[in-house]
Amino acid sequence: ASPLRVCIVGSGNWGSAIARIIGNNAMSMQQFATTVKMWVFEENINGRKLTDIINTEHENVKYLPGYKLPENVVAVPKLCDAAAGADLLVFVVPHQFIRSLCDEMVGCVSTKARGITLIKGIDEGPEGLRLISDIIREKMGIDVSVLMGANIANEVAAEKFCETTIGLLLQPDGIPYFRCPPPGSGVAATTGTRDLASTTSNCRVDNGGREHMVHSDSMSPASLGICEKLFRRWELKTSLTEGSARRSQQTLTIRLGLPGSRILENGLLFKELLQTPNFRITVVDDADTVELCGALKNIVAVGAGFCDGLQCGDNTKAAVIRLGLMEMIAFAKMFSKNASVSTATFLESCGVADLITTCYGGRNRRVAEAFSRTGKSIEQLEREMLNGQKLQGPATAAEVYHILKQKGLVDKFPLFTAIYQICFEGKPVKEMISCLQCHPEHM
Ligand code: NAD
Ligand code: 13P
Ligand code: CA
Repeated sequence: ASPLRVCIVGSGNWGSAIARIIGNNAMSMQQFATTVKMWVFEENINGRKLTDIINTEHENVKYLPGYKLPENVVAVPKLCDAAAGADLLVFVVPHQFIRSLCDEMVGCVSTKARGITLIKGIDEGPEGLRLISDIIREKMGIDVSVLMGANIANEVAAEKFCETTIGLLLQPDGIPYFRCPPPGSGVAATTGTRDLASTTSNCRVDNGGREHMVHSDSMSPASLGICEKLFRRWELKTSLTEGSARRSQQTLTIRLGLPGSRILENGLLFKELLQTPNFRITVVDDADTVELCGALKNIVAVGAGFCDGLQCGDNTKAAVIRLGLMEMIAFAKMFSKNASVSTATFLESCGVADLITTCYGGRNRRVAEAFSRTGKSIEQLEREMLNGQKLQGPATAAEVYHILKQKGLVDKFPLFTAIYQICFEGKPVKEMISCLQCHPEHM
């Protein structure tokens, strides 16, 4: 098989750190093409283009100064030029940009490409909670795994040991995925361990871009049962075929971007691409929980920063971390579309470990501490302190607050709620302590 081509979508602090790992692994491993394209949001640095600096000096001087990028990592300013022809896409941009970037990419990436998101954040739409992986999957029609963990970018760049978690979702009944053969190949649609053809006659699959169509003489109740389990949006239409033997034909249309599309071997492939002796990866089959951990811990980190600003001490900060963790678990259990949220996932690197590292060393913590000391707005501090890097915690607090409010659940999540109100509604920072004192966990 020809080597897999990798594109990194993003080149900030974390994007550049992960580019060091990917570049080195792609160089040394046969299964990956040596040249790795990295999409760079172009900007001018003292009259020079950032892409030119990266491609000549091999360093992202703005977002990860002091660490060289491997020479096989090539900075590309146009998103479609970077992503075209890629087999593997690594999404690593601040979460507020993902929708528009996917829209831009949709025409230039094959639906056979496979993705992984390293983005910590969520989105809220009219239907409530939206995971970033769902947005990518639905807009681009590709399979998406997630990677989250206790991974402060500069420490990873310095090759200090850490762990991380890749999340996949296997269906509880042992049907892990739906797979579509190449267009017009006449091969049956496969759903993991079973295939639709075995329960239908004359089954054919067209990969029509963003939609998969299964044509068959008759879809058996068993096939439809599989679809019901695997795909949230599907539609069955019956039509009559022309010809001497006029017979009824049924067409099943499945829209992509659905829970069944996370494929085990894709997660393992990304583990190969991303693992090093100092970046140890554990794969778990609880993707939604892994992703929610990565997003929600940023809210708790803001609380930890408030605590530091108030000079509360380590015991109080530990309480913020613990109660924050309890709210993370409760939120995941209430809002995950996957019914099997496992508490064990919170014991992985993406859970407690990431909470600890961000509540001590992260940017959200640092800016929140400055917020409580200076009284400047979060926006202003982000500009003053982060040199173009972006905070995810306050925005995630706002997204979560809107979801809780809509469902009438703010009382059950007093820490998340207080953090939102302190960031955006002028609630005094010290009132975070009273929300800890009367937390429902103590009732
Ligand atoms: P960052 O915070 O360094 O953000 C800056 C990046 O955003 C730059 O590449 C910049 O070019 C880009 N950008 C700015 N304006 C843009 C626009 N209009 N459109 C598109 N891109 C624009 O980014 P990061 O640290 O790589 O973080 C990406 C994701 O990874 C986030 O979700 C973050 O939570 C997560 N993460 C970060 C770390 C870390 O330590 N930095 C660790 C783990 C996970
Ligand atoms: P901050 O964005 O708060 O720096 O957190 C980085 C991170 O996610 C570490 O795992
Ligand atoms: Ca190679």
